[in-house]
Amino acid sequence: MEFLPLFFDIKGRKALIVGGGEVALRKARLLFKAQAEVCVISPNIHDGLLDVVTESGGVHFNEDYQSSDLRQYALVVAATDQQGVNIQVSDDAKNAGIPVNVVDQPALCSFIFPAIVDRSPVIAAVSSGGSSPVLARLLRAKLETVIPASYGRLAALAEKYRDKVKSTFDHVNLRRGFWEKILGGHVADLVFAGKEKEAEELLVSELSQAKPVKRELGEVYLVGAGPGDPDLLTFKALRLMQQADVVLHDRLVSQPVLDLCRRDADFVYVGKARSDHAVPQEGINQLLVDYAKKGRRVLRLKGGDPFIFGRGGEEIEELSEAGVPFQVVPGITAAAGCSSYAGIPLTHRDYAQSVRFVTGHLKNNTTDLPWAELVHDNQTVVFYMGLMGLPVICEQLIAHGMGKDTPMALVQKGTTREQKVVVGTLETMVEIIKKQPVSAPTLIIVGHVVPLYKKLQWFNPEIS
Ligand code: SAH
Repeated sequence: MEFLPLFFDIKGRKALIVGGGEVALRKARLLFKAQAEVCVISPNIHDGLLDVVTESGGVHFNEDYQSSDLRQYALVVAATDQQGVNIQVSDDAKNAGIPVNVVDQPALCSFIFPAIVDRSPVIAAVSSGGSSPVLARLLRAKLETVIPASYGRLAALAEKYRDKVKSTFDHVNLRRGFWEKILGGHVADLVFAGKEKEAEELLVSELSQAKPVKRELGEVYLVGAGPGDPDLLTFKALRLMQQADVVLHDRLVSQPVLDLCRRDADFVYVGKARSDHAVPQEGINQLLVDYAKKGRRVLRLKGGDPFIFGRGGEEIEELSEAGVPFQVVPGITAAAGCSSYAGIPLTHRDYAQSVRFVTGHLKNNTTDLPWAELVHDNQTVVFYMGLMGLPVICEQLIAHGMGKDTPMALVQKGTTREQKVVVGTLETMVEIIKKQPVSAPTLIIVGHVVPLYKKLQWFNPEIS
């Protein structure tokens, strides 16, 4: 992160703008909105800017900027077209320890202005760290369309009842539950529809009916996080990720996906590289039960789909036995993600009428698979957890009658920026990856659908 996002209280404090044109005016309006006293140093001043200065209770200094002591100001903005002056202001402010912004010159700034969506008291601020203000503005435009204009009024309503709700529910989890229901439900819809009186009545009635009972038992959400690209999450996954109090995740869940979970949730890493389990499976099952019994909403986030080689079944069996409520949210499994992003359809009318998902790593730590069953014409075989056993897989498939020139693809870190696709045959692959090593997680696809990637590949991340 290049800049730390903060919201700055400058009510009643002096803010200085050096410069008197259009750009200065835009900044002045913003500072005035935040209730600062706007002062301007400039020999020429835009009429509108003078009005803002006067209205805000600030002062216009009708002069050129001279290097001076800036400590009386809460912040300083340089908006002149003279580079020498901009640099001087930046230096003076930095020497005085005052936050400074030089418009459109991130290198001279100690703070930058974000693009904002103003639904006061709710403010959404977007920044590209100065790298592309246009991009930030485009994103802001998107936010404008999804945050209803009356969001501010909803916030005002919440503010009005904040203390009352606090005294009704003494536990923070109960309060949060109440607000989630109000702000994400019919009360919010009524506010957005302009029916504020009805909304308030409904809120009051919900509050009077609310029984301040302590939530005894939490809930577990067993959620498939997909293969890596956060855009492949389901809406339901995202919703539960944003309301969970505790997140248990393992190595397969990518950082961009974790970043979408509620910020103030507790994150517990439970490991799970092939042999290094930070917490063994039984420990994970028990943790889920323990957290839920403390009344917490627990998100168990698993790579891909929780019910495909994810041991999700074992985890919820334990929950079911302990009487803990749970929900399961499917995710895009690695086979679906990797095949799409590598341009290899798993079935195709000319090449494969069926597809099998197989684990290359058995419970007894071997790769003793029912080989004869896997050797079929017109079938695609997908191996999960097969990288270690790759030589055995190739050797055994050939030994059981699969043609040694049967095409095979390895998809490393599918759907992410680090995706790499290596293509060969049963006979050549082991040699190929000696020269072109791949790392976990990697998925193996075997069958005559593989060569279709030449025509169908569309996802080519930079790093490959
Ligand atoms: N539940 C998961 C699979 C867990 S088993 C799912 O449905 O996808 C772990 C194996 O999945 C890895 O060894 C690898 O073979 C495969 N895998 C998971 N994510 C992957 C990815 N992004 N790219 C390639 N393979 C992946």
